Amino acid sequence: MKIEDLDLGPSWTAKLIGNTALTPPEASEEVRELLLEAGDDEYDFRAGQCVAVSVSGPHEFGQQEHVRLYTVARTPAELGPGRFTLCVRRCSFLDPYSGERFPGIASNYLCDLDEDSELSLAGPVGLPFLIPNDPYTPLLMVGLGTGIAPFRAMLRELYEQRDWQGKVMLFHGARTGLETVYSTDVAEISERAEGFSPVSVVSPRPAWGDKEDLAGAIRSHQDEVWKLLGEPEVCVYIAGLNWVGEQFDLAMAEAAGNAETWAARKEKLQKAGRWTSLLY
Ligand SMILES: Cc1cc2nc3c(=O)[nH]c(=O)nc-3n(C[C@H](O)[C@H](O)[C@H](O)COP(=O)(O)OP(=O)(O)OC[C@H]3O[C@@H](n4cnc5c(N)ncnc54)[C@H](O)[C@@H]3O)c2cc1C
Repeated sequence: MKIEDLDLGPSWTAKLIGNTALTPPEASEEVRELLLEAGDDEYDFRAGQCVAVSVSGPHEFGQQEHVRLYTVARTPAELGPGRFTLCVRRCSFLDPYSGERFPGIASNYLCDLDEDSELSLAGPVGLPFLIPNDPYTPLLMVGLGTGIAPFRAMLRELYEQRDWQGKVMLFHGARTGLETVYSTDVAEISERAEGFSPVSVVSPRPAWGDKEDLAGAIRSHQDEVWKLLGEPEVCVYIAGLNWVGEQFDLAMAEAAGNAETWAARKEKLQKAGRWTSLLY
């Protein structure tokens, strides 16, 4: 989903009610949860949808408004009319030659925002991650890093409102356990929900900057994942950074025996409306 291609509609304001760290100070990445309240409580959001955050400039490259998308993590269905949360990773880019660190504009603005501040937003935009009507439908979710945000909301809906009976497999995690967000929520759900199997994914060498080993985690659950994907009614949901989608495809091509078999299976899921991805 590219921001330039989106019709964001009119902007509206929300007030920041709370800004809390989800990661401990010793973690190498900072992820924060922002609790917001829309001025108009008619605003509704579904898991998987995003809002556009606009930061007024002027900015370094001359732009007046810097706009970025963030996924709604908790929805008004959980928090009450007009209330929702965003789960934001503080971004910065380290120039490999100069060693200089450049902070990302919107993520740093959000992470540093004081309570009671007003934000300019637009949306919601994007496809919601819709839950099928049949509670026996098997579901596969892949949400690494901040990609877990929509699944936290979905899991609550599945087990608190829908009494879900189908198998649900979730791959989630971050480079290390310290940066893994919402793991307590996932563990709590896993204790009481029988058909729910979460798989935690971390990096084998975080100190070297290696990414989470999604391919390795899928490989060690290969039979289970392939069997799930073979179910005629299965739905697949993927969220997070673009490399997550790429690594998932590589791992599934391995599980399928070759890339063509996996591409055909994926196309079938997409055509049947059983595949939703939110990659950024
Ligand atoms: C559909 C969608 C959903 C998303 N959901 C989430 C979400 O739930 N949570 C989340 O945290 N993110 C999410 N994102 C990512 C988010 O929109 C932003 O892209 C991210 O926060 C970085 O934005 P920024 O303004 O902080 O960085 P930008 O200012 O846009 O900078 C981008 C990168 O370039 C680097 N940079 C900046 N200036 C320079 C410079 N002068 N020279 C070299 N490099 C520089 C920055 O450090 C940064 O790494 C989502 C994206 C999409 C498309």
